[in-house]
Amino acid sequence: MNIDTIKIRPANFDDSEFVAKSVMAALGNDEVYAVPLKKEIKATIEKITSICQREDVLYSWKNTIIAEIDGKPIASLTAYDGTNYKEIKERTFSLFDEPLDFDVDLMQDETREGEYYIDSATVLPEYRNQGIGKKLLIASIEKGKELGIPHVTLLVNPHNPKAKRLYRSLGFREAGEVYVFGEYYQRMKLDTTEPMRIDILTVLPEMLEGFLNCSILARAQKKGLVEIHVHNLRDWTLDKHKRVDDYPYGGCAGMVMQCEPIDRCIESLQKEREYDEVIFTTPDGEQFDQPMANSFSMKKNIIILCGHFKGVDYRIREHLITKEVSIGDYVLTGGELAAAVMTDAIVRIIPGVIGDEQSALSDSFQDNLLAPPVYTRPANYKGWKVPEVLLSGHEKNIRNWELEQAIERTKRLRPDLLKN
Ligand code: SAH
Repeated sequence: MNIDTIKIRPANFDDSEFVAKSVMAALGNDEVYAVPLKKEIKATIEKITSICQREDVLYSWKNTIIAEIDGKPIASLTAYDGTNYKEIKERTFSLFDEPLDFDVDLMQDETREGEYYIDSATVLPEYRNQGIGKKLLIASIEKGKELGIPHVTLLVNPHNPKAKRLYRSLGFREAGEVYVFGEYYQRMKLDTTEPMRIDILTVLPEMLEGFLNCSILARAQKKGLVEIHVHNLRDWTLDKHKRVDDYPYGGCAGMVMQCEPIDRCIESLQKEREYDEVIFTTPDGEQFDQPMANSFSMKKNIIILCGHFKGVDYRIREHLITKEVSIGDYVLTGGELAAAVMTDAIVRIIPGVIGDEQSALSDSFQDNLLAPPVYTRPANYKGWKVPEVLLSGHEKNIRNWELEQAIERTKRLRPDLLKN
C-alpha cells in the first residue's frame, strides 16, 4: 500500500455504519470487524449506526472524517467543538437504550468550550501501523485550526506509550487526567494559535540566510511551527550612507554600533506585538545552555540582537535589552553565529519540529545525562561489532543498557552534570 494514495475526506450520511463500527472499535471492540458478525454485535452496530446518522450527537457522521483507498473507507476520526458538550453528551447517551457497562454519571467531561476534541480515531485492523492514523490526526488538527478553536485535545490510555509518543510528535502535550468509561485517561492538548516568532537584528543578514533555509529549520518554518524574521539594521538608519556604527567616545580602538538604528527597529517591532525577551548576544552574557534553550522555546515572541565590531552602544543594553547571552568563553567577530546557535537549539525542541519527539527529549543534557552511544546497520562492519543487547529486541534490557551507558559516560566525561 502506498500511503500517498490515501484520500482524506469528510464523512457523509452513508458512512454512518462505518463511523458506528469505528466508534465501537475505538472503545476496544474489534469484534465489529469480524466476519461473520455475532448476532448481538450486529444489533448493537445497527443501533449505534442509527445514532451516528443523526446530526445532533457526538458521534454524528457530520463530525467525522474518513480515510479511503480506492474509494473504500479504511479509517475514520470523529472530532467536535467542545462548546455545548454536556448537552450533546446527555442526548447521545440517552439514545443508547441498553445499559452501558460504565456509570455515565461518574464520567468526567471529556472536553469543554475552547477545545476541538478528537473523540475517537480507528483504522481497520489490516491497515494499522502504517501512518494512516497520523494522517487523519494531522487533517483533524488542521480542521481545528480552520475553525479557529484555540486548542485541540484528546485522551490517551496512560498504558499506551506508543500512542502518546505519536501525539507528542504532533505537538500534543500532557494536560492532566480525566476519569471516563470507568478508567483514568491522560488528557493531551495542542495549541492551534500563532507559532513562536523569532526576530533577529543584524548588519549581516546574508550570514543567516543559508542556515535558516536548510534542513530542519527550513521545514519548521514551512510547517508553520516557527516564524523567523531577519532584519537588516542598515534599513533602520537615517544616515544616507546607511552607517550603523561610529567611533567610540574616549578614543579607544574599533567601532561601536549606534543606538538609533537598533532602537528604531526594536521600537517598530514592539509596536506590532509584545516580546517576551529582547536578547543581546555578547561574550559577557549569561552562558547559553539546554535549560535556557528549553525556556526560550516556551516563549511566544523573542528578539535576538547581534552585535558587531566592538559591540553596541551600552545605552541599548541598559534600556532595551532584557537578557544578555553568551554562547561560550571565546570572542566571535559578530553575534550572527551566536544567534544561529541559539535559534537552532530553541527551534528543534518546539513540539512537532523533530519527527520523533522522543529523539529530542533523549538528547544529551535533557535529563542532565549525556546521550548513550548509537549505532546503525550493518551490525558487523570490518569486525567492529554493535553491542549484542541492541540486537536482542528485548526492550527492557535495551533501555537499561542505554541508561547504564548514559550514566557511565556522564561520570567519565562530564561529572559536573551529576552534581546538580
Ligand atoms: N568587545 C566585545 C566583543 C565584541 S565581539 C567584548 O569584549 O565583550 C563582536 C560581537 O560578537 C559582540 O557584540 C557579540 O554580539 C558577538 N559575540 C562575540 N562573541 C560572542 C559570544 N561568545 N557569545 C555571544 N555573542 C558573541
